[in-house]
Amino acid sequence: MGKVNILTPQVVAKIAAGEVIERPASLVKELLENSFDAGADQITVELRQAGKTFIGVSDNGSGIDSDDIEKIFLRHATSKLKESQDLDTILTFGFRGEALYSIAAVSDVTLTSRTPEHDAAVQIHARGGQVLQRVSTAAESGTRIEIRELFFNTPARKKFLKSDPTEIHQILAIVSSYALAFPGARLRLIHADRTLLDLAPAGNRKVRFCDIFNLPEANVIAAGSGPDQRRIKMEMLLGDQTLSRSRRDIQLIYVNSRPVYSKSLAFHINQAYRKIIPAKENPCFAVFLDIPPQYVDVNVHPAKREVKIMDEPRLAADLAAKITQYLTEGANPLQMPLPSSLDQPEPVKPAVSMPYLIRETLDIYTAAPAGADTTPATGLRGKLQQAAFIGTLSEKYILMEAGTSLLILDQHAAQERITFESLKRQAALGRPQSQTLLAPITLSISAQEKTAWEALRKQLDPLGFDTTLWDGSSLAIHAFPALIKDPQRSLREILNWKEDQADDIDSLAKRACRGSLTSGYRVDKNQAQYMVKELLGCQEPLSCPHGRPTVVELTLKTIDKEFLR
Ligand code: ADP
Ligand code: MG
Repeated sequence: MGKVNILTPQVVAKIAAGEVIERPASLVKELLENSFDAGADQITVELRQAGKTFIGVSDNGSGIDSDDIEKIFLRHATSKLKESQDLDTILTFGFRGEALYSIAAVSDVTLTSRTPEHDAAVQIHARGGQVLQRVSTAAESGTRIEIRELFFNTPARKKFLKSDPTEIHQILAIVSSYALAFPGARLRLIHADRTLLDLAPAGNRKVRFCDIFNLPEANVIAAGSGPDQRRIKMEMLLGDQTLSRSRRDIQLIYVNSRPVYSKSLAFHINQAYRKIIPAKENPCFAVFLDIPPQYVDVNVHPAKREVKIMDEPRLAADLAAKITQYLTEGANPLQMPLPSSLDQPEPVKPAVSMPYLIRETLDIYTAAPAGADTTPATGLRGKLQQAAFIGTLSEKYILMEAGTSLLILDQHAAQERITFESLKRQAALGRPQSQTLLAPITLSISAQEKTAWEALRKQLDPLGFDTTLWDGSSLAIHAFPALIKDPQRSLREILNWKEDQADDIDSLAKRACRGSLTSGYRVDKNQAQYMVKELLGCQEPLSCPHGRPTVVELTLKTIDKEFLR
């Protein structure tokens, strides 16, 4: 008996669906693309349980002809491609005819559609790949698709769905990226009857960009160039250094209106920004490339997230050069002076200035925990204990002498470690030390940050934050941990959710203490000694919570060697 089987159509469909439909966000992406391909300029996306139980997308696009409606759930059924040579000039998002087929294979779908020429709409209901019913009904012209019970017949995939906030976060990222591709469209995203995004048609991309991510227009440069010899046009929106963030969550690249992921383009753009922002910060930008279709292959990824561009290295270099030019001498000169050294720019000073070192009254919180080792430690810790202050370097490092060694303390890393452990200790004791403000500081937040805040707000209290919603798009900070110097930055760090990021106190404290920026200040002898004392009270004094060393030792031997002694 042979062992080779031909898979049944049902199995084939589930496998194919696995490539296109990974999670609610990928479904939303396919549906938005279909609506835009149909010429819609009004689209509403509705979700329940982050799309796990319901996703509805309505548009005012061309609608589907009743003669075609039976076909749309078939594999390779598309109105966008006829001949193989059309593949080279394709400008629609879809062309493979796989999205609706895949979606229908793993869920329960009802699609209602009416073309402007017809008086009646058709409604078709499919479940697990089978068309169950087709009826005539009344509806506005356009298309509405409703998806229920996503992955009901593929339990393995269902198990991999993440928490609601994580899935919503992904969906927001998708909707935001398409909203920017079509600034003239009205787009709404509603989750469980709450509006997460409601974008009015915008006159241009810059307005839309600032609208979506809640950014001040004054800090975004709009620039463009081309077409060049290859007929490539570039347009870009470049956030200045005041908009830099800890994550690359506002970095969008489009090729012919399609949001794409391009590691190499992203790398070069970020590299170009190194001239104005430090390496650990990430800029906000959107770059729109218009490239003649024959230079682009969009058919290299099942979800078309990646594209192949002919001679991409050259394009990346051109793009980076343009960005450098716009950032440094653009029409909209930047406020901050450029750092003298291009490799190591000075960090931006925190907006809120607070006393540099923690007040003595906080000692009970920062003192070593009971039971900590009090015997003279050996090694680096021991040397630090007996070290004497020499001076500082570049407002970044504290220099100390310990026997025959030079100890170099990174002010910023050390302060992060101190802040981190103190925040954790205070949270564990249930006594967060916070700084209460008479008038709250506000923080503009994006829709993504807002969902993160809603998910995390309870965990923020033990750290010493008191935050409320100020208006639809900003938070009010009424109180913040006294150890934090830059509460806005600190809160932004916490709200910059990343997939699967833990939200226990430890992780939150780790993110919060990034707001304890302390380089860029000259430290005197007393302050340095105080800092060392506090650092020694920490459980892990030799590294910052993000893994960088706090102290580096240069032995006399190494120094002698440098002098060829
Ligand atoms: P593709 O987009 O690759 O053509 P899909 O499976 O996404 O494949 O859609 C199949 C077909 O269904 C499309 O080619 C289009 O004709 C029709 N269609 C899907 N969604 C819509 C919509 N919102 N409005 C109009 N037509 C649609
Ligand atoms: Mg499609």
